[in-house]
Amino acid sequence: MTENPFFRPSTLVYELPPFAEIREEHYLPAFERGMAEQLAEIAEIAANPEPPTFDNTLIALERSGALLKRVGAVFDNQVSSDTTPGVDGVDAEVSPRLAAHRDAIHLDAALFARIEELYGRRAGLGLDEESLRLLERRHTAFVRAGARLGAADQRRLRELNAELAAGASAFRRNVSADSKARALVLDSAAELAGLSPDAIAGAAENARALGHDGKYVLSLKNFSNQTELAFLTDRSVRERLLAASLGRAARTNGPLAIRMSALRAERARLLGYDTHAAYVVADETAGTVEAVDALLARLVPPAVANARREAVELAGAAAADGIEEIAAHDWAYYAELVRQSSYRVDAAALRPWFELERVLRDGVFFAATLAYGVTFTERPDLTAYHPDVRVFEVFEEDGGSLGLFLGDFHARASKRGGAWMDELVTQSRLLGRRPVVMNNLNVARPAPGEPVLLSWDEVRTLFHEFGHALHGLFSDVRYPYFAGTDVPRDFVEFPSQVNEMWMVRPEVLANYAKHHVTGEPLPAELVGRMAAAEGFGQGQRTVEYLAATLLDLAWHTVPQGQEIADAEEFEARALAKAGLAVAAIPPRYRTAYFSHVFAGGYSAGYYAYIWSEVLDAETVDWFRDNGRGVRESGEVFRRELLSRGDSRDALDSFRAVVGRDPRTGPLLARRGLA
Ligand SMILES: [Zn+2]
Repeated sequence: MTENPFFRPSTLVYELPPFAEIREEHYLPAFERGMAEQLAEIAEIAANPEPPTFDNTLIALERSGALLKRVGAVFDNQVSSDTTPGVDGVDAEVSPRLAAHRDAIHLDAALFARIEELYGRRAGLGLDEESLRLLERRHTAFVRAGARLGAADQRRLRELNAELAAGASAFRRNVSADSKARALVLDSAAELAGLSPDAIAGAAENARALGHDGKYVLSLKNFSNQTELAFLTDRSVRERLLAASLGRAARTNGPLAIRMSALRAERARLLGYDTHAAYVVADETAGTVEAVDALLARLVPPAVANARREAVELAGAAAADGIEEIAAHDWAYYAELVRQSSYRVDAAALRPWFELERVLRDGVFFAATLAYGVTFTERPDLTAYHPDVRVFEVFEEDGGSLGLFLGDFHARASKRGGAWMDELVTQSRLLGRRPVVMNNLNVARPAPGEPVLLSWDEVRTLFHEFGHALHGLFSDVRYPYFAGTDVPRDFVEFPSQVNEMWMVRPEVLANYAKHHVTGEPLPAELVGRMAAAEGFGQGQRTVEYLAATLLDLAWHTVPQGQEIADAEEFEARALAKAGLAVAAIPPRYRTAYFSHVFAGGYSAGYYAYIWSEVLDAETVDWFRDNGRGVRESGEVFRRELLSRGDSRDALDSFRAVVGRDPRTGPLLARRGLA
């Protein structure tokens, strides 16, 4: 029996986790020992006979829990990107125990007394800016976690947190299981008419893998709107596919959502807030639910008006097929037809210019070199957790080493849908750690020997997720508490959205968008048409996003004690009340598969994407208009914002770059809402 590889710090470069040695059976013992070790460390801090100092309390807290962090980072990634029934089982087992562990720290009266005491005389401690902020932010976190509550309330809080953690874990598994169960099985290729030959071959391969030899299977991806809906010519197949998507997990997760929303409302009341949303937003850059509502109220009417204008255009195209009224399962299909006829843009026809390897090296990496001077070298000698995963070392302009970037780009049955960034090792000068970050995408694997050709949206996703990766890689803080992407939820999408701008910057596009066979550049005229077509469809895209956002807020502004009988009914009423009940545009996520808010960290936080986009639109304008070169602008953005993590107020970092407060004008213009 070899020793559990989590028990000791990794000896690999950048403390890359020793994936080659990690087995499923290592997780649970590592979690258990990790929690026990940290509790012992906390007990020692709390029982220290010396009076509290910044070093013996705050720094000691920063250093605690090293083993738990090691196993947690690797596990969190595996449960999302390469899970197994065994890993799912560990997740179900440890989720509530981890919640209890966090409570054991935050509700430790002796520990909090030390922090409270230091906080009370913080001005006289002679702390530098980052250390002072650490004390303030930690203090806030303890108070928000219930440190000031009485014993009975704390007991109830622990129960609520444990049940919510178990609920989130179950919610995720229900979505995953029912998405698989409801995959659409079709008997003949004829039913797939309209899809590309590659997509049809993929559906056949999918069927083989799932034991439906000779048939075709369309798997369900995250969103309500499945990508195939834009191309399937058979209306009844479209209808079945969308119905399968919209009905996911309703039976199990509908009641669970009701339960979780009630528990969150109760917890918020315990902590002194009217609603869960008020509790969450109080610690975000938005500050109040009213501020969020005010922005959303400006966006909803013009977005709905835009969507209705689009609907009229689509109706014209659908009438030719004898369709009198556009249904939700028709929208994407006719939008694609209109896009092709009005803008002469065929999204599928662009794929040959977007070969993954080229987009990655000559696009995404190239843009990072242009703006920040960093370069990338693949390290095939370093092993990740799956053969698909690529490892790159990242270097500074002067050749100094910066960190590791792992890319896991392909879809597989063991991976959840969507795209995301994770940190495997968090940067910290205190702990002498440099960052190891990773991106996950869900690009379909091509037939053997065929190149991986991306869609326009997948190219955008690659740039987006890499923006998060840069945020992690450029982190330059002392305390791990502040590192990288540990910024407010309604700020974290901002750097990633900014990074999307490189996708269409002429000098970047010209460098990567080359035909995978002929090497010819993507014709400028095609790019122009694609850009023009971007405006079309903004109405629908904004409405489906806002519908999900308002649905999230509706679930989390339910006051304590209000009974909800039926999740679907609640959903319908919430959308109608928000002015977003557009029959042909379902919310991007319906309640029962809205994992962001019931299984992830986005409860009362899905508004963050549009909130961040205000800053993003401003910053894209700043990059273009500030009179500096790209490299110099990149340096300012990196130094004043990307490197800071949460070590200073997020909006102060924004102001340090742009020179003033954010304004909504650029966002409204970009989304056609001005
Ligand atoms: Zn993102």
